[in-house]
Amino acid sequence: MATTTAANSAIPSATTSTTTGSTNRDSRIHTHSHIKGLGLGSDGMALPISQGFVGQTQAREALGIHLGLLREGRYSGRPLLLVGPPGTGKTALALALSQELGSKVPFCPMVGSEVFSGEVKKTEVLSGGFRRAIGLRIKETKEVYEGEVTELTPAETENPLSGYGKTISHVIVGLKTVKGTKQLRLDPSIYEAIQKERVVVGDVIYIEANTGAVKRVGRSDAYATEFDLEADEYVPLPKGDVHKRKELVQDVTLHDLDMANARPQGGQDIMSVMGQLVKGGRTEVTDKLRREINKVVDRYIEQGVAELVPGVLFIDEASLATWHQGRSNALIYFDAESPMSPYVVLASNRANCVIRGTESDNGGHGVVSPHGIPVDLLDRCMIVRTYPYKLDEVRVVLETRCRVEGTAVSPEALEKLANEGIQSSLRYALQLLTPASIIARLSGRTQIEPQDVSEMNSLFLDAKRSATLLREMQGSAAG
Ligand code: ATP
Repeated sequence: MATTTAANSAIPSATTSTTTGSTNRDSRIHTHSHIKGLGLGSDGMALPISQGFVGQTQAREALGIHLGLLREGRYSGRPLLLVGPPGTGKTALALALSQELGSKVPFCPMVGSEVFSGEVKKTEVLSGGFRRAIGLRIKETKEVYEGEVTELTPAETENPLSGYGKTISHVIVGLKTVKGTKQLRLDPSIYEAIQKERVVVGDVIYIEANTGAVKRVGRSDAYATEFDLEADEYVPLPKGDVHKRKELVQDVTLHDLDMANARPQGGQDIMSVMGQLVKGGRTEVTDKLRREINKVVDRYIEQGVAELVPGVLFIDEASLATWHQGRSNALIYFDAESPMSPYVVLASNRANCVIRGTESDNGGHGVVSPHGIPVDLLDRCMIVRTYPYKLDEVRVVLETRCRVEGTAVSPEALEKLANEGIQSSLRYALQLLTPASIIARLSGRTQIEPQDVSEMNSLFLDAKRSATLLREMQGSAAG
């Protein structure tokens, strides 16, 4: 009856893709919610203002060329390195690159200090990041029951699951008996499960035919009436030409699979079932577990039921990473040959600085390198620069952000914020928006006025002012 592929025998459908991204990562992306892509024209040239992007045209065009190579499958394994002052859109560019690759393409932002951090097993965070940035698109063909029942044959009434065989199906429960229409009946065990799940008319349910397990997966608004299930009711699942073969797609990341299999839940939802790919109870993600997951993934790919979707791994403040530590070398992860390799984008706002982990070398001076990145990694990178913004550009970004956040701002306050953006950084000016709007509201104003910006400025310091203040304090303490 239903097609039996490796994927569809194991995976129920879910209405949305499931990810296990941390809140911290989500909030890092939230500040870029106005960015929808690189904003390039069909000739590859950057449009002055497009898809949330303003200015930074050279970098956007360079990323456009890189994107072309990725789309053609010509990724050389060379990471992009974005270099420029703080708040000049390096994270936004990396995010836009992933958006251009597709809406379900994973984007995993990390900071360099997480690479080989002292707290977690040396390479653990980096491996996790790589796997967060690799998607797996699983395709399954399912027989889905859609539509209304018009006739029930006696055979169907006697054999509730006859139309479905012993496979997984979707049905719409409902069609209550009202005079002249059909009474639907359910096998008692399924009926019990349905009652437990509080299924009502119009719910789309998932029934595991072998076990009779029932899961409520969504609603069809076609049926609005409450389905009043009585203890003696039996509902045969109707068959006929109301079944449709549907191609359903699930998007997960390798990290989702690792986590689900490290802590199997034993349920019927997508991640619980995906958590049963490898046998044996575990409590943590180990290299062995990852290798086993990779094997299952390879099998799915061979069978044509899944494909890998390389995403973007963004490592901000790359100078804070410890790329070499003892015998561990993070560069082994940058393996262009591996199909399970995401596109890596690094960023740095440092010029020449000491490479982390080399502080005691070179007679205690440390080894200095451009952007604090070891030369063997630097050699592989394609470097793209970002430039400080002009006043007009900062103003437009602020306006865009106000629109997205639904924040009203007077022209004078906008001008003041834009100047802050030039004097400190665009990021700082953007950060003032929300608190300034709160102050404005508390003062009974409907839009941000210059005095709200001044008040925020006196409460929150930008990086430059805070550093100057500290220097002054140290100076006076020494004096
Ligand atoms: P850092 O070096 O401190 O990590 P960054 O270079 O990564 O900074 P972002 O975090 O990308 O800077 O930018 C700061 C904020 O400004 C974000 O909200 C980002 O979306 C926005 N932004 C930066 N550049 C642009 C741009 N050209 N157009 C629109 N928004 C931008």
